[in-house]
Amino acid sequence: MMVKIKCPRCNTEGSLQLVESTYQGPYRCWKCRGLFTIKIESSELKSCEPLSQEEFDRQQEIEALKAKFKRR
Ligand SMILES: [Zn+2]
Repeated sequence: MMVKIKCPRCNTEGSLQLVESTYQGPYRCWKCRGLFTIKIESSELKSCEPLSQEEFDRQQEIEALKAKFKRR
């Protein structure tokens, strides 16, 4: 499903492709390149916090690992 996310920095609306209705992880705004940690519950954006590049990379690694474990 597609979830719309409004960037708190530049107010540009982006979208994220989700497998589940719940998601917590990194998001990058396509326009201002801002990095955020977002939390989505029931396809709704619950929180959005700024993220450093280092932290963003680390979170992406975690997400990649999770995806690996989910595969059966
Ligand atoms: Zn932005």
